[in-house]
Amino acid sequence: MTTIFTKIIDREIPADIVFEDDQVLAFKDINPQAPHHVLIIPKKPIATINDIQAEDEVLVGKLFTTAAKLAKEWNISEDGYRVVMNCNEYGGQTVYHIHLHMLAGKPMGWPPY
Ligand code: IMP
Repeated sequence: MTTIFTKIIDREIPADIVFEDDQVLAFKDINPQAPHHVLIIPKKPIATINDIQAEDEVLVGKLFTTAAKLAKEWNISEDGYRVVMNCNEYGGQTVYHIHLHMLAGKPMGWPPY
């Protein structure tokens, strides 16, 4: 299934890209919920967490190592940040191409509702 994120990967629509390699893309969320809010996605389209296969485990791990790399670049590793991946309706997922939200730059609340 093609989503808006495929169009961002293919440069069919613009995005503020902060990191890219052959497997992963990270770009600023269009509706930021924190001073830093980026979405870290695999270029491979995987619809939901439920669709992650064993062969994707390293790729999905790379979403987290990308978050840590960005945190180091932005000097926020020590202050901390939050990463979230929503799944399906109750999880609040609206784009069906998995994405790690990375939120940073202020203290986060809990619970998240
Ligand atoms: P979800 O609700 O966890 O699926 O998150 C989808 C996220 O994608 C939301 O935070 C949206 O603001 C974000 N989003 C939707 N369209 C775009 C876009 O074109 N560029 C950047 N972020 C987008």
